[in-house]
Order: sequence, then structure tokens, then C-alpha cells
Amino acid sequence: MSVVGIDVGFQSCYVAVARAGGIETVANEYSDRSTPACVSFGPRNRSVGAAAKGQVVTNCKNTVQGFKRFHGRAFLDPYVQSAKSSLVYDLAQMPSGMTGIKVMYMEEEKVFSIEQVTAMLLTKLKETAETAMKKPVADCVISVPSFYTDAERRSVIDAAQIAGLNCLRLMNDTTAVTLAYGIYKQDLPAPEEKPRNVVFVDLGHSGYQVSVCAFNKGKLKMLASAFDAELGGKDFDEVLVNHFCEEFRKKYKLDVKTKPRALVRLYQECEKLKKLMSANSSDLPLNIECFMNDIDVTGKLNRGHFEEMCAGLLAKVEAPLHSVMEQAKLKKEDIYAVEIVGGASRIPAVKERVSKFFGKELSTTLNADEAVARGCALQCAILSPAFKVREFSITDVVHYPISLKWNSAAEEGLSDCEVFPRNHAAPFSKVLTFYRREPFSLEAYYNNPKELPYPDPTIGQFMVQKVVPQANGESSKVKVKVRVNVHGVFSVSSASLVELLKPNEGEEPMETDPAGKEEESKMQTEQDDQKAKGDGHKDDADKKSETEEMETSEDGKQEKNHAPSAKKPKVKTKTVELPIENSLRWQLTNDLVNLFMENEGKMIMQDKLEKERNDAKNNVEEYVYEMRDKLHGVLEKFVSESDRDTFALRLEDTENWLYDDGEDQQKQVYIDKLAELKKLGQPIQERYIEAEERPKAFDELGRHIQQYMKIVEAYKTKEEQYEHLDELEMLKVDKQVNDAMIWMNSKMNAQSKQNLTQEPAVKVQEIQAKTKELYSACNPIVSKPKPKVEIPKDEKEEQNGPINGQEDTDAQPGSPEKGAAGSTVAPESEHVERILHGTWSGTH
Ligand code: ATP
Ligand code: MG
Repeated sequence: MSVVGIDVGFQSCYVAVARAGGIETVANEYSDRSTPACVSFGPRNRSVGAAAKGQVVTNCKNTVQGFKRFHGRAFLDPYVQSAKSSLVYDLAQMPSGMTGIKVMYMEEEKVFSIEQVTAMLLTKLKETAETAMKKPVADCVISVPSFYTDAERRSVIDAAQIAGLNCLRLMNDTTAVTLAYGIYKQDLPAPEEKPRNVVFVDLGHSGYQVSVCAFNKGKLKMLASAFDAELGGKDFDEVLVNHFCEEFRKKYKLDVKTKPRALVRLYQECEKLKKLMSANSSDLPLNIECFMNDIDVTGKLNRGHFEEMCAGLLAKVEAPLHSVMEQAKLKKEDIYAVEIVGGASRIPAVKERVSKFFGKELSTTLNADEAVARGCALQCAILSPAFKVREFSITDVVHYPISLKWNSAAEEGLSDCEVFPRNHAAPFSKVLTFYRREPFSLEAYYNNPKELPYPDPTIGQFMVQKVVPQANGESSKVKVKVRVNVHGVFSVSSASLVELLKPNEGEEPMETDPAGKEEESKMQTEQDDQKAKGDGHKDDADKKSETEEMETSEDGKQEKNHAPSAKKPKVKTKTVELPIENSLRWQLTNDLVNLFMENEGKMIMQDKLEKERNDAKNNVEEYVYEMRDKLHGVLEKFVSESDRDTFALRLEDTENWLYDDGEDQQKQVYIDKLAELKKLGQPIQERYIEAEERPKAFDELGRHIQQYMKIVEAYKTKEEQYEHLDELEMLKVDKQVNDAMIWMNSKMNAQSKQNLTQEPAVKVQEIQAKTKELYSACNPIVSKPKPKVEIPKDEKEEQNGPINGQEDTDAQPGSPEKGAAGSTVAPESEHVERILHGTWSGTH
């Protein structure tokens, strides 16, 4: 399985992977570790990430960014409606009522769901991870803001599925950061000691999140979290944009907001200015050439003035800090450190406010941009059986209190009960017991809508079906398991009917409730034993458990908590699983998810085809430019004037064609075009290459001839080291050498008479083959080892001459594959070996 963490930011995304050496944030195809959360649609393909960002100005209506917060929201959601006015692309209502994005894609108007758009982004991030890991990626952990509600979380899970990712856990941004912080700390207090409390602050482009976490050796426990979903770097950009729109309206009479393209450019420049102001307090310029109506605009600003303009935003920094401290019931002196991450946390005035609130210097030990992705990758490694990670348990919290309501059976009217209070440990399961005669419905909802950054507190309806009375006509006991899972999503995960059986009829013994409780509903918490989606994955948080039991009477009022009694009389029971019908807020149907997956696959294929088509076109273009230069450069000597003119004309025609009819053709048309050009160009290039390589090949052959000649000579003069060689064989060598020399001389002669613009008289390959032939014929003969001579014992000490096994390569011919540059001769390992080991025992 793959171990990948993905931080899907409002503005930028990061991918971290686990490797043998540890966690690594990986770079995309632009060698950038940050990938813009941007998708651009074109007439033939989509671009995602940096390529899409490059089209923000040129293709602004079809380039989509800032869509993260539309997850799980209806088109008519107030957030969507208010964001709509500041977007340069169009939103539309999906048939389901959800938010869709309207663009021109493949020359047709298309509405994509937000899950599809995020899936496109995730496809890109998946590819980035795959390229880095050199293997397919499916399992991953993806981050979401801690303030996301169920509908938003489920929508991100669907997006992951559409992209072919198996999201093992949706991890809250700040929880990922706490893990990235804590897992490497060697000096955390022992489990029984007072924990170390650390505050984490993440100010991103769209949201502001604060959490406080208690660390002990090997574990982290989130204590509380707070947020401002309406505070982020983009709000500071907005202040700047509004300021300059106003300034340019007065100074240049320009209404910037009427021109999407100008507005997009102004946003880009304002963001740059904002970042510059974090490092400089002096006046800084903002210049945009040809901004609107051919007017160049200029402006300037300094940090002091900027901070004044942003006073309202800066005032919002404190409330969530206050809130976490209050929720966790901690005093400022209980805080060991305040870690700050997120791009916009670099704004000095923000840092100042956080620091002032806690009365301490802020720590920036984590990488502000990459900590979330790294934390996700660490969580994925913990979940992966294939990776050995230091034991570390993570307990997150429920961010919004969740209640259930149901129709009371005993009386007319509704009952309700808070099942998960705020900051309850998560993931967690609880079991509720109802006594019913018929199917019934439970409605889950967030019971404090005021604090919800989402307009609808309803989570969903859960219909417990097939409930029937007991055989004796009394209400049946129905156990309903509710849980907040690893993704932070609430569900009614199972329901079962407990049938009381007559003695001997039973299948499984079970404790019953004390007499008199029959008409009550009961709630008890249980270990959350459900694993992350991928089977067999460890889940630290899941291993944790508390057991408590709460009972509610039929009118829904909570009566008491009590632990199961060991003394209860045992009766035989049988449990029957009951089907549950979910009706969740804004949930995509399985059919739709499958259809989107299929469409994503088609779009990936289309992008691939388009890339190949573009590559084919680029190849033609590159060939035209390369040849045009070379025809008047290195290739000039190798082509006749008339051929050169013909070829140059063809190149020019092709260049014109590329900007005209050839602008938009099928891949094969470009491939054919290149082949046609190469028919003219290839022979010229080949002649050039031949001319370059020929002297080297002749040199190599000459060197071999000379060396074998030298050995033949030495043999004839009866030099001692060759006297063991066979006479007939040496005659053969002599003849081979002479033949090779005659061949070489005749070829050199013929070539010298040949014009460079014509086919060469001899090809490099032929010369190399000749060299190899000579080597193969002669080398085995001349390199035969000398028979070993027994040296009398007493002579051994005085010997100072060469002995067998000593290396001396001076007079020996090297193998042609070693010597000839660019030779394609296959190595003859036996000879090479022998030479290397010095069995050739010549001396000089
Ligand atoms: P979110 O967490 O809200 O989904 P995100 O993760 O994409 O968004 P980050 O990448 O953490 O956001 O931060 C991006 C923001 O940080 C942008 O508004 C960017 O302009 C801002 N930013 C980055 N560097 C600086 C800087 N030096 N000074 C001021 N702001 C900066
Ligand atoms: Mg972020």
C-alpha cells in the first residue's frame, strides 16, 4: 500500500510521502512542492495545478480556483451565493441542488460538481505522488479544516473516490500538524505525568484554525479547537484589492470590477504586495502595465497603512484563541508552546497578536506550508501495516455537539438526546437501546446551529427498519450503534434487534437489563472497533475506548449512567441485524459517484491523448527550427545547394502550416509531417554523423592493425614472450593483418575521392565490423598464455623478471569495444576478462 498525505488547501496543495528515510514532501513536475488548487478547462483538455494557474488571466472564465469551501453546500447556500459575486467563473445549480461549476470544456458548456473538480485536483496530486514513489498510489490520508461539517467531509471523501484514491482518514488540519509536531519529540512527559499542552494556530488562505493539544510520551489528545472560517490570507488580499480598486477609480477613472481579467491581475499583484509587506515596512510599489484600456497603473502602500486597513480582520485573531483556552479550561501559564503554521501566519501583525495573547514568543519549529501534509503522511504510515512507525496514539475531538431526535413511542411528540457533546473523543462509537414495536427513524443534527459555519444543522435521517414486536407482543429491544468515525463523520453504523428466547432455544447468551427497564431507551458507549476503510489497518485512535452507559427513558430524557451489572440473570437471546436506510444531507448517490469516476477516467484519457498530440506537434516545430539552423551551420557541407534550397523551402512551408492549417490537427498528421521532413533531412544528418565518426573508426582499425603487426614482427624475430605461439596460426594473423590493411587503404582512398554531399564510400559500421573481425581472428591466437615453467626453488627468490599473472597492457591490443568510440560491437567478455587479469604476459 502507498503511504501518502495530501493537504488540499484553498490556495495550495502539498503531497508528502513516507519513504525508508522518513517523511518527504514531494515536488511536482515544475519542481515545486506547492501545487496550486486550480483547474483550467480548455477546448481539448484540462490543466491542473501550476499549468492551470498560468491560465488564470488568459482563460479566466474557465479557470477555477477557490472552490474548496463549496464542498457539501447547496447552490442556494448563503456562503455560495455571497462568494459567487467575487468569482470570475460561473457557478450553477446541480440537478440535486448542490453547487456546480459552469465552464466551457471541449467546446461545450459543462457543469461539474464540486466533487468532480476536487477529484481533478486530487488526480494531479495522485500523479505527483506516483511519480515520486514510482508506483501506483491509492491509499492516502487527506486533510480538511477542523470546522468542516459532515456534508463537507463526505463530499471530500466522494471526491477522493472519484479520483481513485482510498482515503484512510480525513484528518483535521490542526490534528495533522500536532502529529507532525509530537511524533518526533523525544522529551514528552511520561504517560502518568502532567501532559504538555501546546497550542497550534493555522492561518491559511481561507480559514483560521486553533487547537490545543495535550502531549504525553506516545500519545496526543486534542483538548479543544476553535476557528474563524471567514478569516484567511484571501481576506487580507480582498482589503488590498478594494483599496486599489477605489484608488484606480479616482486616479484613472477605471471600474476594475467590471473587467474580470483586470480584477484577476489585481488580485495577483495585491497578494504579491501583501507578502512583500511581511518582510518590509517601507513604502512598496504596485505597478501593472496595460492594466485596463491600455492604461498602466501604479500605486504604493506600506505595512503600517495596511495594518490600519486590516484592523477589522486583525481583531478577529483573538476570539478563537480565547475560545480554546476556555473550552480546555487552561490558563496561559499551562501552555508550553504556541506553534504557528499556514502561509498567512507570516503576516507580522497576526503573529504579534497571537504572541501578545499568550504572552510568549511563538514557535515556528514546523514547516509552515508543509506541516499538514507531513502530518497526514505520518498518519497514513501509522495506519499502514507495511510501515514501522513509533507507537503514537491520536485522540481527536468532536467539534460540534451532535444530538439525535426521534418520535417518542410512548407519548406523542419528539424526544432528543445529545449523543456526542463538544470535544468528546473521536473516533468513537456508542450504543443506544430502544424498545420499539415498529420501524422508527432517528434524526441526527448539530444542536448548536449558532456556532456552525454552515446553514443547515441537519446531519441526516436514519430509518431503522424491520422492527417487530416480541412474540409476546411486548416492545422489542433494539440496539443502535452510532459513531463518529475516523473521518469525523457521524453515522448510525448498525442496528440489531435482540430477541429473547425460551430456554434451550437460544443461540447466544446475553446480559439483559434489570427488570423494570423494559420500557426505556438506553445509551452506552462502546469501543469503536470499526477500522479505517482499508481492511486490516491499524488505527490508534480506534484502539482507545471508554465504557460508560447512559439510559434514556422513552420520552428521551436522560436518566442515569450506569455500568453493566455482572449480577444480572442470564437469559438466552438472539440478535438480528436490522437494515438502516440513510438519508444524508447532500450525499451523492453511489450511482453518481460511479458515473463521475467513469467520467474522470475518460477525461484523464483525453488529457493523455491531447498531451501526445501536443508532443507530436512540438516535435515538428522543434525539427523545423533545428534543421533551419543546422542547414546553414554544421550540415551545410553535406548537402548540395539545390537540395538545401528544396529542404529549406519545405521547412518554411511547414512553419507557415503550423501557424495556419497545421495549428490544430490530429496527432497522426504531425507524425506524418515529421516523417516527410525527415526523409529529406535524415540523409544529410547521416552524412554529417558519418563524417564525424569515420576518422575515429579508421583510427581504431589502424591501431589494431599496427598492434597485431608488431606482434607478428616480434614473433618473427623470435622474441621470448611469443615463442610459444603456433607458427601456422601466426601466419593466419599475418594474412589477416595484411588483408585488413589493404581493405582500409582502399576504403580511405575511395572516401577521399567522394564528395561530402554524396553517400560515403564506406560506412562507420563497416569499419567497426572490420575491426571486430580482425580482433576476433587474431586476439585468441596472440593472447594464448605461455605454458607455466616450473622455477627451481632456490631461483625463486632472485627472480625479478615478469611472471605469469603480471599485468602489462602496453603491447596488447585492447578489445575493439573498449577502444572504438561509439562502437556498437557486443563485448566479448572472455577476452576482456583475460586482458584485465593479465594472463597476457608480454613484457617490453
Ligand atoms: P486553507 O488552509 O485556508 O485551505 P491554504 O492551505 O491553501 O488555505 P496556505 O498555503 O497555508 O493556505 O496559505 C496561503 C496564504 O498565505 C495566502 O493567502 C498567501 O498569500 C499567504 N502568504 C504566504 N506567504 C505569505 C507572506 N510571506 N506574508 C503574508 N501572507 C503570506
Ligand atoms: Mg491549509
